[in-house]
Amino acid sequence: MDKAFFSKKILSWYGQYKRSLPWRGGSAYHVLVSEIMLQQTQVKTVIPFFHRFLDRFPTLDALAHSALDTVYQAWQGLGYYHRARYLHEAARAWVALGRDPKSYEEWRKFPGVGSYTGAALAAILLEQRVAAIDGNIKRILQRCFGLDTLAEISVMAQEVLPEHHYGDYTQGLMDLGASICTPRAPQCTVCPIAQHCKFKNGIWTPIIVQKAPKPVRYGHVYLCVQNHEIWTVKNTKTKLLKGLWGFPISELNKEHNTSYIDLAQNLMCGTVRHAFTHFTLILSVWNASSKVQDIISQWPQGIWLGPKQREAMGFSKLMRKVENAVEDVLKQ
Ligand code: SF4
Repeated sequence: MDKAFFSKKILSWYGQYKRSLPWRGGSAYHVLVSEIMLQQTQVKTVIPFFHRFLDRFPTLDALAHSALDTVYQAWQGLGYYHRARYLHEAARAWVALGRDPKSYEEWRKFPGVGSYTGAALAAILLEQRVAAIDGNIKRILQRCFGLDTLAEISVMAQEVLPEHHYGDYTQGLMDLGASICTPRAPQCTVCPIAQHCKFKNGIWTPIIVQKAPKPVRYGHVYLCVQNHEIWTVKNTKTKLLKGLWGFPISELNKEHNTSYIDLAQNLMCGTVRHAFTHFTLILSVWNASSKVQDIISQWPQGIWLGPKQREAMGFSKLMRKVENAVEDVLKQ
């Protein structure tokens, strides 16, 4: 296919069918928030969180001058909390810079802004000629041009960039990948580039690579319950969920420390399974109420919290699952 033809088709399709999204046409701050939220989360899930987040932190300054705990609270339910931490750090770096970033390279200096996010921000906000390549865009280029490797896709992504309207072009590819050239059931009959697509026309088929099963990791959570309150701590020990509030959790794949429970009783009160992107976690949940001093000495940065107070905390989905799995223990 004529490479200029590709970008022309994407731009004209975008002009006609672009999605109406709350961050489009908004400030650079709005676009940054949306791009960080959209890492690993679909648009329809992000939209209500985006509105809620902006109600809480309407401006860059408001976010930069807030405590990280309040950012975690606003992020609650969206998952992948490292994004909240990065967004907060990026806001602080942006305020410290004293002006808007002026290039892809400047955006990349902010925490949480990787090559795709940096390119998307530079194209959308600065009309910089850079190729953003996420999963959706990669799939379109791969299918349309019959490409087998990431290196080929990266080269092609540069070669098919238009001469202007980089922001619209990038968003056009995003929209096409999300709504038409979807992973399992591409709607080729309404695709603007179908006529030239090697996949659609049977000229190329993808190499099917069997996915390796996700590794499984194990851990232990220790609940100390007193008068309906639980010893709740800020996690500083494990890399996973670092900085978030929850119940004391052991290092993963380490032997269970039996000094935290009363061995005379059967105090395992449940297991919780949770899928992260790269592994599955299975947590054993222990009632460690009889060993409260041991737990507090090991996890001293904590507070006793009742159900209502816990509700208001920035708990991860994993810790909410733990809470739900052991409702009976929590009634003690
Ligand atoms: S024709 Fe089909 S496979 Fe090819 S880019 Fe369009 S939707 Fe994707």
